[in-house]
Amino acid sequence: MTTTNGTPITAAATAAATAPTGAEVTTGFEMVVGLEVHVQLKTASKAFCGCSTDFGAAPNRNTCPVCLALPGALPVLNGRAVELALRVALGLGCTVNGRSIFARKNYFYPDLPKGYQISQHDEPIAEHGTLDIGLTVDGTARVIGITRAHMEEDAGKSIHDRYEAATAVDLNRSGVPLVEIVSEPDMRSPEEAGAYLRTLKQILLYLDISDCNMEEGSLRVDANVSARPFGEQKLGTKCEVKNMNSFSGVEKALAAEFRRQCGVLRAGGTVQQQTLLWDGHRNEIRPARSKEGSSDYRYFPEPDLPPLVITADEIEHVRASLPELPAARRTRYAAMKLSEYDVQELTADPATGPYFESVLALHGDPKAVANWVNGEVRATLNESGAAWDAVTLAPARLGALLDLVRDGVVSSSAAKKLYAQLLTSPDTARAIAERDGLIQVRDDNALAGWVAEVLADNPAEAARFAAGEKKLTGLLVGLVMKKSQGRADPKLVNQLLASRAAG
Ligand SMILES: [Zn+2]
Repeated sequence: MTTTNGTPITAAATAAATAPTGAEVTTGFEMVVGLEVHVQLKTASKAFCGCSTDFGAAPNRNTCPVCLALPGALPVLNGRAVELALRVALGLGCTVNGRSIFARKNYFYPDLPKGYQISQHDEPIAEHGTLDIGLTVDGTARVIGITRAHMEEDAGKSIHDRYEAATAVDLNRSGVPLVEIVSEPDMRSPEEAGAYLRTLKQILLYLDISDCNMEEGSLRVDANVSARPFGEQKLGTKCEVKNMNSFSGVEKALAAEFRRQCGVLRAGGTVQQQTLLWDGHRNEIRPARSKEGSSDYRYFPEPDLPPLVITADEIEHVRASLPELPAARRTRYAAMKLSEYDVQELTADPATGPYFESVLALHGDPKAVANWVNGEVRATLNESGAAWDAVTLAPARLGALLDLVRDGVVSSSAAKKLYAQLLTSPDTARAIAERDGLIQVRDDNALAGWVAEVLADNPAEAARFAAGEKKLTGLLVGLVMKKSQGRADPKLVNQLLASRAAG
């Protein structure tokens, strides 16, 4: 491939020049992917100073001598950031290093006033974790290795679209604490990379260490991808793809870059190590700069920070505070005989499970509660953006509604009307049902009266039904329901009609 004329390299263009068409370009090659995920830790203040981490403040408002890199200013490590990094490490099954070292990663960039980033290099806070991505190959679970998780600070932000002929620099983000999670090159397809990212994000949200908001840059992904002939053990030359702002963008970028590399290899060329940027609007990859090796950063230990020492007691303290993680929760729900779909939905985010369980504790039927939580309640949340703990959705109110359905006090269809009322009314489900006439009528005399009226109103159908035409039952039940304005208990109406037909 070439970058000499400065034009973007698209996978399609390279492929067209080197191979017939379509999927044939990649045939015989294996994709190898490793991911680096930067996650902004949910702290109130920055990693090495007391400035706020609030997103959206006016430019350069959240700054001080430390994060502006004024001469003589010294960093002080944020203990909360260490605690959150430990949660990540333990949540991913990493070994925590009792002693880790902060290092200076030197490079020039206009939004990096110090000329270096404080990071960790050869002695990170955690190593050797694993992530089960929920996919299987030949029935074997796909477990991706986590090489390391290390702490570092973020750089500032260059803003290119604020002024016509100048770039602005905003240092609000300078010094915000991050954890970088580096995987082994264990993934073999865009789908596996996507599954890794979705699983990782879910765990990070359960751990409550970041909001993982990709649009605000709280979660950023860099992908290292290479191609090699199937059966080859040696890794091919990797390229790093950056600038992907969604997981589906990562999957598309990987597929495009893999095709480009396969095209190069197929044509007898060699892949040059470099950094590439993904353009999600044009679905193409363009070169950014030649890739630095780690030696280019001239890492050396940060002289202004002592080694980070974490005792076994501190590790155990954090371990004891870890919440239930998604895999454990899925196992527990599956044991309630819930469907795979229900289990996935109930555990998709950290908040659904506790709500489900609060209602379950009151009502007792897992399937009924799961149906409502995954159905009506989720739809409400999606529409209104309400929180699970909103008063109108209080577990006790939903539990009481489900009790009414189970006990035959209201029908399933009346329950849906009732639910809509519950969202806007402070009254209980039973009070609303009584007020709106939604209580099912189970009184034999009333039911028999409606049945008799319906039969009298429809003599032809009544005669056919009496002659044994059972398929008319549905029609007649429907008419009784209509006559009762939906209040008749359809089960009892069915029974009444059946006894008439038999008689
Ligand atoms: Zn500061």
